[in-house]
Amino acid sequence: MSMFIVPSDQPEEGKVEKVIIIGGGPAGFTAGLYTARAQLDPLLFTGNDIGGQVALTYEIENYPGFPEGLSGNELAERFQKQAEKFGTRVEYDHVLEVDLSQHPFTIRTQFEKTYRAEALILAMGATPRKLQVPGEAELTGRGVSYCATCDGFFFRDKEVVVVGGGDSALEEGIFLTRFASKVTIIHRRDQLRASKILQKRAFENDKIEFIWDTVVTRINAGENGAVASVSLKNVKTGEEYDFPTDGVFIFIGHIPNSQIVEGQLEMEDGGYIKTNCFGHTSVPGVFAAGEIQDHRFKQVSTSVGQGAMAAMEAEKFLAELEDKSYEDVKEEVLAAGLLPA
Ligand code: NAP
Repeated sequence: MSMFIVPSDQPEEGKVEKVIIIGGGPAGFTAGLYTARAQLDPLLFTGNDIGGQVALTYEIENYPGFPEGLSGNELAERFQKQAEKFGTRVEYDHVLEVDLSQHPFTIRTQFEKTYRAEALILAMGATPRKLQVPGEAELTGRGVSYCATCDGFFFRDKEVVVVGGGDSALEEGIFLTRFASKVTIIHRRDQLRASKILQKRAFENDKIEFIWDTVVTRINAGENGAVASVSLKNVKTGEEYDFPTDGVFIFIGHIPNSQIVEGQLEMEDGGYIKTNCFGHTSVPGVFAAGEIQDHRFKQVSTSVGQGAMAAMEAEKFLAELEDKSYEDVKEEVLAAGLLPA
């Protein structure tokens, strides 16, 4: 028998919440689902990118339980609906500051609100890495894009380039062939990082061509102020030339959105939050899940699993806190070797 829990009223500033979840992607909403079902009345902050990266993906084929595939947006909506059904309170607000120096932990948001929580689950995900070449920032939205699902439609019968050699570049490049007359994938090496199945599909697609061993050094505008070409450099021969294009789609990996806890939690290279295998961070009571801490798998299915793990560990932590002080529970967590090595 399923049980519906009516969410409590609007969150009260200053009240100490049991658990606050930062991030509204697969990891965050799964943590919401689990902590809500554990009667912890979770409060979840979506940030500005509701649904996370998955919501921008045209089609998800490898999330178990959906053999026909489904759109990333639909999957994200289902995650939220299920978390809310059991009582997760969702705030459409962006967390700007986190203070982990005192327990309960404090967060401050872009709407200038302050909240406190006994446990925190960090699931802020990651954002697309930029090429950092001249023209990129100025031409974003005028031909430069990081989201084929959002912008592909504007390139009907046009020629576009895709930068990158991973799963995202190939998957999004294949998707762009629905609109563009030609998609040229520019990769800095002569071997792709992408999975074999995507490589096969891309090689078999008549609309896709590759330029190997080549980097983009500049993105150039035409007279209309929109992208007209990219300047390229072959890293083996040193040859430099301009390549005409109407659009530049950049898929060269992601940077974790961990800036708000920088200096407060131990981090891996590249800004990933260090966790143990159960999602504990270096501060007892603070857990992390999904791409904010995962530089290896980065799948919707793994983020969901990590969200569930972090929630279950938060539940245990909060149960311990019921009749002990934070300092005592902290000692226990340290003694149990639960902090990341
Ligand atoms: P990724 O696997 O890190 O690939 C990034 C690509 O961009 C690499 O080919 C890399 O080149 C290239 N690159 C990095 N920095 C560059 C720069 N400054 N200039 C030019 N090229 C640069 O990132 P991703 O493709 O976004 O995938 C991220 C994760 O999500 C992966 O684990 C992937 O498997 C997963 N994913 C899975 C699916 C799926 O299962 N269908 C779909 C999308 C993503 P090098 O190869 O030379 O390093």
